[in-house]
Amino acid sequence: MEYTKLAQLYQILEETTSRIKMTQALVDLFKETPPELIDKVVYLSIGRIAPEYTGLDYNFSEKSAIKALSTVLNISEHDIQHQVLQTGDLGDAGKKLYEEKGVKPEGILTVEEVYRTLREIAQTTGYGSTKKKLQLFTELLKKASPLEVKYLLRTITERLRLGIGDNTIMDALSIAFTGKKENREIIERAYNISSDLGYVARILAEKGLDAVKNIKIEIGRPIRPMLAERMAIPSYILKKLGGKAGAEYKYDGERIQVHRKGDTFYLFSRRLENITDQFPDLIEFLKESIPEECIIELEAVVIDPSSGAIRPFQDLMNRRVKYVTRFHIMMYPIAGFIFDIMYLNGEDLTLKPYPERRKILEENIKITERINLSERKIVDNVEDLESFFHQAIEDGCEGLVCKSLQKDSIYQAGKRGFLWIKYKRDYKSHLADTLDLVVVGAFYGKGARTGYFGSLLMACYDPETDQFKTVCKVGTGFKEDDFKKLDDLLKEHTLDHKHPRVNSILSADIWYEPFLVLEITGAELTLSPVHTCGWDRIKINRGLGLRFPRFTGRYRFDKRPEDATTEEEIINMYKNQIQIKS
Ligand code: ATP
Repeated sequence: MEYTKLAQLYQILEETTSRIKMTQALVDLFKETPPELIDKVVYLSIGRIAPEYTGLDYNFSEKSAIKALSTVLNISEHDIQHQVLQTGDLGDAGKKLYEEKGVKPEGILTVEEVYRTLREIAQTTGYGSTKKKLQLFTELLKKASPLEVKYLLRTITERLRLGIGDNTIMDALSIAFTGKKENREIIERAYNISSDLGYVARILAEKGLDAVKNIKIEIGRPIRPMLAERMAIPSYILKKLGGKAGAEYKYDGERIQVHRKGDTFYLFSRRLENITDQFPDLIEFLKESIPEECIIELEAVVIDPSSGAIRPFQDLMNRRVKYVTRFHIMMYPIAGFIFDIMYLNGEDLTLKPYPERRKILEENIKITERINLSERKIVDNVEDLESFFHQAIEDGCEGLVCKSLQKDSIYQAGKRGFLWIKYKRDYKSHLADTLDLVVVGAFYGKGARTGYFGSLLMACYDPETDQFKTVCKVGTGFKEDDFKKLDDLLKEHTLDHKHPRVNSILSADIWYEPFLVLEITGAELTLSPVHTCGWDRIKINRGLGLRFPRFTGRYRFDKRPEDATTEEEIINMYKNQIQIKS
């Protein structure tokens, strides 16, 4: 299959903001793709070379890309840089220069060759790797047409930004291979237990939908996490859960999914990055505690070993370094509170109800000084729930996660639902919880903030339309260090236009690719004529906005933009708030 087909798709996707057109373009391409290539086409279309959990990245700088261009075009790097400044984008600059120079491709690029070479680039590490990567990429450029050059340059520098998310790909796969969008649910379940969209696509294309139904949990492939809904009134929580709930401490730490097979361990973060190397100490503790072949979930916190008391979340952040040393292990001792088990000795437990999973945990976990089960109490009245909540706060937790005890209380991989309800109380505001919002734009600062942003435009995520919809402009809560830090973080992701997946009425001074999630608090949600979250859902021509928004200081690096608070959650929070007020 010729790579130019993919480049043409990218062009169509780039030129449209209509999700229907995007999906159709993908459907057309998937239908044309040979089944053995579909996984590669999926990875390349989402700007990756392999699923995120493998951690495989190109690690190829813009400087190297310019060097490669300079070799092929035989012009100076300085001249190329000049062109990049003029066009504002490396891909566009490369395309323009290829056209101007009338470069004749030295062959035809195929998807196979592009994928193989890009993968080799990603896998090349260590001494001399920069040179080898450069050579490999230069060879690709020699065979490329101007349009292909544009997208190869964007791909290798990880700036493809086509505006398609997992949901759009799943819709397109469902339509292309089963003729119906409705079968997406089956595809989604397979994705939720494998976290590998390319793999699911390949099984679908080669073996059909029944084979997708048979995709099984495997050690080493993360399961997408089950998520909780939120409610602010204990009596409603109990009612929603059928009068009785398993209330567990909500530890304020880092969620870790642990996979074990014998001495092999894989640790995955909430956003499913492989973080095995970050916690050698935790692995040693787990060796003593958990079964030889299992997948469990725990919340890791830093403790004071002499008292067992939980230390603040900030201490755990000090463990988020590239290389964990003995110093970190000594200074920030880790403990794990296990709260779920999804797999044991070859058996998938995700479809078993929570009380059964909890029982299996209790029977199979050895409690030690550093590994324990989450503190839990079965509650069936408001008083007990309230007092357990206060006990949790006292013990350094954020509140409770109240879990359904009903027959249908399965582990809902990749879903946020009311089988788990979190109860965190923010006494100062009507809001039942903080929001995790994505930075999509910024407005210039004035006075002391000249040169930095004055406020950031923040958005929630809507999985239905695969879009980011604005909720507030936040300009308070930032400390001195935050301005520089945010500037550095965001610089790389600046766009000269609104990102295709951002739905905004406000016109920001600077637009960003949605990637950074920040925790935002505020006074209350109100109807808004300028914010697009919940547009027309509560009132015609109105959305929902957050009043007096403030950055809490917490960067949610553990969340992908698609893990931000969803539009539906905000609508529910608004409805709850009205109920509380009245
Ligand atoms: P938050 O932003 O409130 O931390 P979240 O968006 O990361 O939440 P939610 O699903 O909304 O995720 O809340 C559940 C989170 O609470 C889990 O991701 C997990 O990290 C944490 N947690 C702590 N203790 C427990 C527990 N006992 N059971 C389930 N989750 C727990």
